[in-house]
Amino acid sequence: MSIASWYCTVCGYVHRGEFPPEYCPVCGVTGERFEPAADALQGRGRVMSQQWRCLTCDYMHTGNVPPDTCQVCGAGPDQFELVNPPEQHILPQGTEGTIVIVGGGIAGLSAAESARQAAPKATITIVTRESDHPYYRLNLTRYLAGEITGNDLPVRPENWYAENSITILLDTEVTAIDAKAKKLHLKGHPDLPYDKLILALGAHPFVPAIPGVNRENVVTLRTRVDAERILARCSAGSKCVIVGGGVLGLETAAAVVLHKVQVTVVEGFEWLLPRQLTRTAGERLAKKARKLGIDLVFNAKIKEFDGDEQVRGVVLESGQILPANLVIVTAGVRSNSYLARMAGLEVNNGVVVNHHLQTSNPDIFAAGDLVEHQGTAYGTWAPAQFQGTIAGMNAVGGDVVFAGIPRSNSLKVLGAEMFSIGQIHPDDASYEMFENDGESYDFFVFRDTRMVGAILVGDTAIAPVVKKLIEAQVSCADLLAVASDAKGIRDELRKKIVR
Ligand SMILES: Cc1cc2nc3c(=O)[nH]c(=O)nc-3n(C[C@H](O)[C@H](O)[C@H](O)COP(=O)(O)OP(=O)(O)OC[C@H]3O[C@@H](n4cnc5c(N)ncnc54)[C@H](O)[C@@H]3O)c2cc1C
Repeated sequence: MSIASWYCTVCGYVHRGEFPPEYCPVCGVTGERFEPAADALQGRGRVMSQQWRCLTCDYMHTGNVPPDTCQVCGAGPDQFELVNPPEQHILPQGTEGTIVIVGGGIAGLSAAESARQAAPKATITIVTRESDHPYYRLNLTRYLAGEITGNDLPVRPENWYAENSITILLDTEVTAIDAKAKKLHLKGHPDLPYDKLILALGAHPFVPAIPGVNRENVVTLRTRVDAERILARCSAGSKCVIVGGGVLGLETAAAVVLHKVQVTVVEGFEWLLPRQLTRTAGERLAKKARKLGIDLVFNAKIKEFDGDEQVRGVVLESGQILPANLVIVTAGVRSNSYLARMAGLEVNNGVVVNHHLQTSNPDIFAAGDLVEHQGTAYGTWAPAQFQGTIAGMNAVGGDVVFAGIPRSNSLKVLGAEMFSIGQIHPDDASYEMFENDGESYDFFVFRDTRMVGAILVGDTAIAPVVKKLIEAQVSCADLLAVASDAKGIRDELRKKIVR
């Protein structure tokens, strides 16, 4: 079976299949924005192909030739060096070992997939406490909006797991990791031994300790079960308050309002998506949200969730009371690091991993929303997928490096094109900024002639070019020599779009 990989040039999502997908399930762009990606996941033979190291960022590419562009930094094929002759990539260990992966999200699935492709004889088991096979968690807002059905959610069909000899234990919770004895304690099941363990436990929604937060109908959105619970409460004319005006809050609002629910988003900051957008960009988005019928309250501090068993309203410190039959808290996530911490692994804001995605225990790898790599806990899909793939390869004896990727975000469901990447709130005056608030909104941040951050609202066609420039960390002196304002920069970058 020949499987190609396709790389979304906007968000970094990797699609496996003979053809690029019609739409990117992560950022929604059309298949035209996909490029052939590293064929690191190709084939199921024992011998991994040649390995190429990107001289710019150390990204490891597996294939017979270097890639057209580096998946991480955008460098060209001439920027890759051959690392080792192919024989050395016959996996020395783990091919017949037992790999256990905890977590049935995209990081866990990607780890299983790459481990299987690199080590056909390994015993691979995924343990997840969810009842569902791994699904497109990021598309739960599209599911809420009715844009997709439940059948569109699974990443792989159910028979894929048996076909690839991957055992998946659903509804199975890991209660402890015995790192010394190399086994897991499971709730209601016998212990599960491992040779190499991959932790992909993800994250859980952060819920601030506001009085009344335990009332029924104060909910979060992380799992398919959460989405079903919300849908069951979305009756026409009911009132929903969403706590948090970030990406998830806004997408959820745009989905819920489609069910003729009166929706109010409460944001503590002065504008929407404060982490990803400038005030001007946030205000443009607010206009769009209001047009959809979403009410917005800024600078708001919540005093309590009023009610009895059921929530009846959200009381703000200003004295304003927002009536509510449903409150959805979207206030960020926290790493599910408890098990790792109890097992003695190094944990900071997430489980600390090195460039090989190895934890402080060499037999335990970790990936996805669970981890912190070089101080960064990404909390987004593409890095989780990418890290999972690398952790899977390394757990079966590979030597692949995760060199980090700039954080980027885009919006679904709202019908508003928005792309934000890198550093958009500079810490000091050494950064140069260019802003264009015209038909569309463009914001570019440079430091020492390198582009380090950007926001595009309205027209995001140049997003792949922007992403490449930021990732490649190359000097943009030529660009700045011909373009003196944001509009000029956009026009110049437009010329570079590959069609
Ligand atoms: C509604 C929504 C929309 C999103 N939209 C976007 C978007 O547009 N773009 C984007 O980049 N990102 C988005 N994200 C974030 C993205 O989905 C996550 O970054 C990504 O799914 C993380 O994958 P993961 O595999 O690391 O963790 P998870 O998907 O959280 O998977 C962790 C798994 O571990 C399991 N688990 C945890 N503890 C245990 C245990 N003790 N025993 C057994 N199993 C356990 C969990 O049940 C789960 O199956 C969105 C998230 C949500 C919820």
